[in-house]
Amino acid sequence: MQVFTCPFCGPRNETEFHFVAEAGKVRPDTTQPISDAEWATYLHTQRNEKGPVREVWMHTTCAELFVMQRDSVTMAVLGTQALRKDGS
Ligand SMILES: [Zn+2]
Repeated sequence: MQVFTCPFCGPRNETEFHFVAEAGKVRPDTTQPISDAEWATYLHTQRNEKGPVREVWMHTTCAELFVMQRDSVTMAVLGTQALRKDGS
């Protein structure tokens, strides 16, 4: 079992969390024409980097989104940060 720290609730069992997306992924401008291939790449392609990564996670208990920095090789959590301003 691994413990993740929700910026709003504190340390909790990893089973209370859900991966959402890579942090910093830029959504294509859909007000302009976009090919199916470009849209599919946005939806399904991950950088899948080794080492330190930034990801958006949800704590399913409080339903808040936050950024988790973790090492994708060791699985060590390097930090968490609230996405909304009033999180601590
Ligand atoms: Zn929480």
